[in-house]
Amino acid sequence: MELVDLIGKTPMIEVDGVYLKLEYLNPSGSHKDRIALYMLRDAQEKGLKKGDYVVEYTSGNTGIAVTWISRILGFKPVIVVPESISPQKISIIKLLGGEVRTISGDENGEKYAQELANELGGIYLAQSRNLANFQAHYETTAPEILSQAEDVECFVMGVGTGGTLYGVGKYLKERKGVKNFMLVPRGSVLQQELMGKKEEDEEILEGFSYHSFDDLIKKTIEEKIVDELRVVSAEQAKEGMRMLFKLGIPAGATAGANYYYARKIREERGCKVVTLIPDLIYKYPKIMEEL
Ligand code: PMP
Repeated sequence: MELVDLIGKTPMIEVDGVYLKLEYLNPSGSHKDRIALYMLRDAQEKGLKKGDYVVEYTSGNTGIAVTWISRILGFKPVIVVPESISPQKISIIKLLGGEVRTISGDENGEKYAQELANELGGIYLAQSRNLANFQAHYETTAPEILSQAEDVECFVMGVGTGGTLYGVGKYLKERKGVKNFMLVPRGSVLQQELMGKKEEDEEILEGFSYHSFDDLIKKTIEEKIVDELRVVSAEQAKEGMRMLFKLGIPAGATAGANYYYARKIREERGCKVVTLIPDLIYKYPKIMEEL
């Protein structure tokens, strides 16, 4: 067995009618292993060769996953990150053999990454619009969920690129008519675009999208994959994290947000709810101190 064969097939547990898919058990620690493998395999089919540069713009988990798999497959990863991400994620990327370029909040990360890839003669994966991101979840995460929670009725997920909600949500809706709930980060551009108003900025939940309205998220709206929007605050995410800690799951903030709303929707609707636990708290010491 190869290391990349350990990606996916993550377990699911049930707590009071809420089903939690434990994606942090992927080898590099998040659901992003799935999409990194899909995007890199796709790039290989399009001509990416050993020794070529692979560039990605990411708030961290995709950078860790892309670096890890690139090193195994023989590519040279260069990861562009916003300066706001936790220093631990940067250290992990570097220790795995990735090169890191940090950009300020005002810089356009997508543009920076594309230009860098051109300069290096490599490719820019562009997870926020790469359909391999969607496909990874449509072809792996979603069928796994259906085999683990056959009678799922509701799916709850916050969005970064939107790839998970798009892939899982589309599959579950097509097969089972599942109701999909998109968590919209409070104070984000998404809140403004989708709900017509933006509350004041507050603490950012690393992993969710605050500054852009990306292609895969647009597709979930255009294709009517999303049934309801719910605004999620950092305080609600922390409440969810505290509850997960009590269950023995030391999860990250986006998992806290997902769990908080999965429980709420279970209470409101009585439906069988599935959500993801994307990663663990260890990469985020700052939020750990605040819980
Ligand atoms: N949680 C965490 C911890 C993440 O890193 C991400 C991706 N940035 C998400 C949730 C959202 O996943 P997606 O990009 O598929 O919307």
